[in-house]
Amino acid sequence: MQVMRAGSRLLGLVTAATLVTVATSFAVSAQSADRNALKKAAAAYVDANAKLVQQIVDSTFSFQEIGYHETETQKYLTGILRKHGFEIQNNIAGMPTAWLATWSHGSGKPTVSLNNDEDGLPGLSQWPGVLKEDPMIVGGPGQAEGHNSGLGGMVVAALALKEVMSKNNVSGTIQVWPGIAEEIVGGKAWYVRAGVFKDVDAVLSTHVGSALKTEYGRTAGTGLISVVYTFNGKSVHAAGAPWEGKSALASVEMMDVGINFMRQFFRPSSRTHNVLPFTGNQPNIVPHLATNWYYFREVTPEWILSDYAAGNRAAQAAADMFGTTFTHKVVGSAWPSWANKPLAEAVYKNIQAVGLPQWSEADQAYAKGVQKLVGKPEIGLSTKLDELGTGTEHPSGGGSDDIGDVMWSVPSVRLIFPSNIPGIGGHNWAAALAGATPIAHKGSVAEGKVLAMTALDLYLDPELVAQAKKYFDEEQPKLAEKAYGADKPVVYASFLPADAAPEIHINDASMKVMRPLMQKFYYNPAKYGSYLEQLGIRYPCLTQGSTCGAPASLTPEA
Ligand SMILES: [Zn+2]
Repeated sequence: MQVMRAGSRLLGLVTAATLVTVATSFAVSAQSADRNALKKAAAAYVDANAKLVQQIVDSTFSFQEIGYHETETQKYLTGILRKHGFEIQNNIAGMPTAWLATWSHGSGKPTVSLNNDEDGLPGLSQWPGVLKEDPMIVGGPGQAEGHNSGLGGMVVAALALKEVMSKNNVSGTIQVWPGIAEEIVGGKAWYVRAGVFKDVDAVLSTHVGSALKTEYGRTAGTGLISVVYTFNGKSVHAAGAPWEGKSALASVEMMDVGINFMRQFFRPSSRTHNVLPFTGNQPNIVPHLATNWYYFREVTPEWILSDYAAGNRAAQAAADMFGTTFTHKVVGSAWPSWANKPLAEAVYKNIQAVGLPQWSEADQAYAKGVQKLVGKPEIGLSTKLDELGTGTEHPSGGGSDDIGDVMWSVPSVRLIFPSNIPGIGGHNWAAALAGATPIAHKGSVAEGKVLAMTALDLYLDPELVAQAKKYFDEEQPKLAEKAYGADKPVVYASFLPADAAPEIHINDASMKVMRPLMQKFYYNPAKYGSYLEQLGIRYPCLTQGSTCGAPASLTPEA
């Protein structure tokens, strides 16, 4: 407000150009004085909108959409953001469900980008809040990692920032975008390729976990190339004249045999694994078509590429053996993650200010019930903050996240927030149990507060923006050169081939069957105080082996 008055008093005295300079310097000094007050106001906004956080977490749990099919999630979240004045772009990089929400104030500088993943996992449908392995839809998709739980905090943080920035005349641009198809690492590298982060100063990405924490430098875990090998042969009667056939299935099997022998010569940090999406129709037809989908994971870009090359040699040898042909298509990629130090330090200060959620006795009892159910130590939920992570010198394998491509394209950091239960891991049915409970809601509120507060640090402290950029430009490439054993400072080069396009139809067939059943379970926040209430599930449910009032599972028609 003071800035506005100063600006209007000067109006008659100076030229427009001078006015801009003077007003900007007034704005900066007013902004630094008020930083803590504004951060408090943003955190208070998130707290005051905890109901909306809960509705977003529960709604997106209920949609439980998988890669490239996040249409309900997209409609719902962009609807909220549009209503609050954000400009929405859809169809980023040719991915219909990929969106970007933007809001600017004043000079529009700097730009801070907020991100959280949103997709679920195929085949891992599970009732939330129960103490039993039991799918909502048999064979259906589920939020079996908890990506949904970060969407509440991300969206409400953006609304908090807009409120505080417009009321207090803070310049900057807020960008919000989802990690789509993250479970097949098929989203973020395409966002990078589309130039989404060209003018972005910092990306604050969040991911569900069971702690409130962050780190800088080389992270634990891997990067990867995800590739589908398609073998083509010749079908014949498998008993009539098998010698005239060329089996695509046999090639797939021998490719796997080859890679399983090669594993001895891969580094211990390699994680190489596959599924066989299609291997034939029935035994009396020699399969003329078969596919083999591999993830080649390693801890340096060079090692990822070398394992991928080994996979290509195995495919070639297996094709030669049976006279088949093959193509290979990169359908996803992730660079190994490397988090920005100044950003992580800023996030960590806000983690300390926000603290862990106040877990109720019910939350702790349910968490222990889940831990008991899956045979893990009954330690309950985190009550002590982790230290600021300083990176991992020798990562030994583990999962990947395509945020790595973003982290190598723009100063970025990742905040882990406690919306899930310690010891459960991801990609299994039990990881969905907390996803629409107060544990997820409270973790997401903490996430939203840390996000909004850190973004305000960036909007109000040009020095922090400059430090983050300096680390990204000067330190990260050299530190990675040493860490990766490279022969020059590391520069990002996408693993995606120049002519590759997102594999947006990869989940079409299963979603065609599942979507009509999934629609029956969408959350109606206008009618029910929570998703558990809508489903009739008691909280906390503490009876081991109980579905706690959940309806009967649905089964797709054959
Ligand atoms: Zn994830």
